[in-house]
Amino acid sequence: MTSPRSTRAPLRAIIMTSTGQDVRACMNCDSCQDWMAPGMDLTFGEIMRAAARDDPRALKNQTLATCDELLARVRCPSGIDIASVILALVREAESRGRRTIDGGRETGDRRL
Ligand code: SF4
Repeated sequence: MTSPRSTRAPLRAIIMTSTGQDVRACMNCDSCQDWMAPGMDLTFGEIMRAAARDDPRALKNQTLATCDELLARVRCPSGIDIASVILALVREAESRGRRTIDGGRETGDRRL
């Protein structure tokens, strides 16, 4: 029997299709390292690089549920629209049964 994960496209492809953003453009410059809100456990750069590797941590982290207030302000020198990517990851996480927002806390993890 095939697992649900193996039938899905890689995260970078899902993000590219839904947003036009290429997470492989992250050059690990850490300019976004200072953009941290309370509760965030990964930086935006760490999430971009995890998504580029199809690492499940791109979907399984507290940052997706806690970074809302930063999304309108964060800027990436590589031109990645971080907000679009984060929102695409939130949608993807939810489509895989992971609830990302519930009073600012991640509460569910049924299939990851
Ligand atoms: S600012 Fe952009 S290029 Fe630099 S680490 Fe963050 S996401 Fe990557």
